[in-house]
Amino acid sequence: MSDAIEIRRVVKRYGTFTALHGVSLAIRDNEFFTLLGPSGCGKTTLLRMIAGFEDVTQGEILLFGQNIAGLEPDRRPVNTVFQNYALFPHMSVLDNVAFGLKMKGVAADARRARAGRMLEMVHLSAFADRLPSQLSGGQQQRVALARALAPEPRVLLLDEPLSALDLKLRQAMRVELKQLQEDTGITFIFVTHDQEEALTMSDRIAVMSAGHVQQIGTAREIYEAPVNRFVADFIGETNLLEVEVASVAGGQARVVLPGGQALTCPSASDTLGRHALSIRPERLSLVEAGGDLKATVERVVYLGTDLQLLTRLEGGAEMQVRVQNSARARVPQPGDRLGLRIEEGAARLLAD
Ligand code: ATP
Repeated sequence: MSDAIEIRRVVKRYGTFTALHGVSLAIRDNEFFTLLGPSGCGKTTLLRMIAGFEDVTQGEILLFGQNIAGLEPDRRPVNTVFQNYALFPHMSVLDNVAFGLKMKGVAADARRARAGRMLEMVHLSAFADRLPSQLSGGQQQRVALARALAPEPRVLLLDEPLSALDLKLRQAMRVELKQLQEDTGITFIFVTHDQEEALTMSDRIAVMSAGHVQQIGTAREIYEAPVNRFVADFIGETNLLEVEVASVAGGQARVVLPGGQALTCPSASDTLGRHALSIRPERLSLVEAGGDLKATVERVVYLGTDLQLLTRLEGGAEMQVRVQNSARARVPQPGDRLGLRIEEGAARLLAD
């Protein structure tokens, strides 16, 4: 697969403030790629630079191998769907979708035909003659999508397009968006701060914070093998413990947890001393006796399918545990002293 977009050491400064500190990444053709990170990390800035709405302070952006510096936004083979999708209120749904084509000089008949096809694709053919105000929020967002897809861009940029919708609609639209991307084969670059949204739709995700890319990988890679504390903490839930690596031999580290209990886990480096250790709550199970760690149950939250337990390790640190609920098993109670078993490979030492 070739690269649709290559970002090379891109820096963005607003006056003295640096919003992006030398970001590099490559997005493949036909990929659903997500930029994920907390508010202010620079996702929108990066997207706006690809679209051409923002200058690049330093570095290069290549679109299908071509440096796009100096290329006007409307000359780039990209289109954008914004959070506030601002349809033209006085135009019918069909005319809204056909609008971009008119600007490109496509003839009236061809415009109507292509706009009609786009409406079919987003399941809104029956609404072609309505005004935007006569549609629900989700339908309006689908019109905005159809409008952005009509000129057949090679890359579609989506800036938090679902954030104005309620939860149920957002979940339904996730499935539709992914389907639409697969059907059209267009490269989607999707910006969100919502990790669940990113995990459910993306082929690959770039996790960003404070103007840096922290990790790039599939949903599974960044969830199962976060490279650092930020990614481990931002994606899903995890127990982050400050531990002391006492020894490393044969790729296995002996680590001492706060409170003095110790365990063995894989280690790629042989650096001793303080490290962060990440263990996902669902990779822990409860055992009556034995296990890898000893803990006392402090709180139990009943979630129906699951139980969420707050436990405290002997000697101090808190540990969240998530176990499947079963109608047959006894629900643990505060004060119970139990063993925690760690799934093999689930205790991960982080680089920083
Ligand atoms: P959000 O999810 O809140 O939109 P984001 O990750 O998309 O956040 P950006 O909008 O890219 O973040 O902004 C990155 C940083 O650059 C922020 O700290 C923001 O305040 C700053 N910034 C953005 N635009 C400008 C501007 N025109 N002038 C000065 N600073 C700006």
